[in-house]
Amino acid sequence: MGNPENYFQFQQEDKKEHFTMDAPHVVVLPFPAQGHIKPMLMLAQLLCHGAGGFNITFVNTDHNHSRLLNLIDQTAFSRRFPTLQFMSIPDGLSPEHPRTGPSIVDLFFSTNSVSKPEFRNLIVSLSQEPTCIIADGTMSFAIDVADELGIPVITFRTYSATCTWIYFHLQKLIRNGEIPVVEGNGDMDKQISCIPGLENILRRRDLPSICKLEPDDPIMQFYITQTSKMTRASALILNTFQELETPIISHLQSIFPTVYTIGPLHTLIDSPSKNLSSLIQMDESCIKWLDSQHPKSVLYVSFGSVIVLSHDQLLEFWYGLVNSGKPFLWVIRPDLVVDNNEPNKIPDELKMATKERGCIVSWAPQEDILSHQAVGGFLTHSGWNSTLESITFGVPMICWPMITDQQVNSRCVSELWKVGFDMKDTCDRSTVEKFVRDVMEDRRQEIMESTVKNARLAHDSIHEGGSSYRNTKKLVQDIISIHLSKNASKGNE
Ligand code: UDP
Repeated sequence: MGNPENYFQFQQEDKKEHFTMDAPHVVVLPFPAQGHIKPMLMLAQLLCHGAGGFNITFVNTDHNHSRLLNLIDQTAFSRRFPTLQFMSIPDGLSPEHPRTGPSIVDLFFSTNSVSKPEFRNLIVSLSQEPTCIIADGTMSFAIDVADELGIPVITFRTYSATCTWIYFHLQKLIRNGEIPVVEGNGDMDKQISCIPGLENILRRRDLPSICKLEPDDPIMQFYITQTSKMTRASALILNTFQELETPIISHLQSIFPTVYTIGPLHTLIDSPSKNLSSLIQMDESCIKWLDSQHPKSVLYVSFGSVIVLSHDQLLEFWYGLVNSGKPFLWVIRPDLVVDNNEPNKIPDELKMATKERGCIVSWAPQEDILSHQAVGGFLTHSGWNSTLESITFGVPMICWPMITDQQVNSRCVSELWKVGFDMKDTCDRSTVEKFVRDVMEDRRQEIMESTVKNARLAHDSIHEGGSSYRNTKKLVQDIISIHLSKNASKGNE
């Protein structure tokens, strides 16, 4: 635990040996992608060991179950989290399916058809009846299963509050003719005025990427259905903090009886434990490289676990980074470049410059990097986890969003929170170079005050008396209340 005074500090001496029937039992079901599994596993770890002492069944898909278990030391894990068990269900896709990049959407449909009956079978086969289910907001079949079996369900949306709120307006955006957003045809800078609380913030180009789809597209329909089904849950969990998104959280409270904002979750978990939520092997060698760099001199670059670049985009970024003259640490996943037919076609000048002042790894311990004193900026795809991590560690961002909620996050970063610059929709080498200079030097002053302030607010929120501290405590107490009332009604039978 990074903060010794934190209430959620792991209490090693109090840990239990294994499942005990007198403790609440929470089933946690994430959507099968890194950005969803990580915050939900952190919550599971917290409920298991720190704040709650609960029994946890964490349900991955078979595919991610084996990836995760291959990477963690299972003996050490069960010593650390003795009451957290992993179980798995099929995701309905063939073993060779890539499950990333644009094809990740196949999981929307396969999980909701194939995984649903499997999830039901798993729930009824558990040795201890679940007290409640915490299900990802895009796995709403869990709500059907929970309703049928009479189990309370809480929905966890792994987006920001702002983006979650926007998804509740997809139908209104369709009615108002704002969907589909047509790139290159029409005014992408036109203000969107029909979403309460965001009237002067969003332009067409800032809407979630799915808004480029036709209204009757199955993916658009999937999101409309999932979002509306979420309201059948008894409460909403968000990995954000009250002070960051106050007005929008109030709007969500008009839809959900309870909204638990409990983020930034990653700050509640100690360092060894957070690396237990990665589906990809970390290359820690870059930390040694960072140790040799000057304070705040390095730009960290990562595009998360899902998006893909064309070879041309890769080169534009690479030239921009090199031409900026700043040291950089770049995560290039093996599957980041989609048309990577000629991987050796990287110009020698780029290779030479990278040797001089760059470091490239295939997957990195991102939080250790963002909290490293050598890192002065983050060029990010604006995934919500990365955004929140950067805010918390006080690292200003350059945002280059591509899909889903990333367009919204980057707008909030630049316009609302003023903790970075939005490079949306362009990545030619001179633009990249300019933005790198801006965040590291030329316009850094403009955003540092707000960056430092928001990092402090994030940390305050998880300490005693802080908003996320109180909400996590309330979540724990509410689950205990469900457990006690279930036990009482069983006693009366
Ligand atoms: N991450 C990591 N190592 C990397 C790149 C990313 O551990 O090299 C983590 C990062 O800390 C974040 C998550 O992967 O928690 C990515 O989630 P995010 O929501 O930012 O993006 P997504 O992968 O869902 O697009």
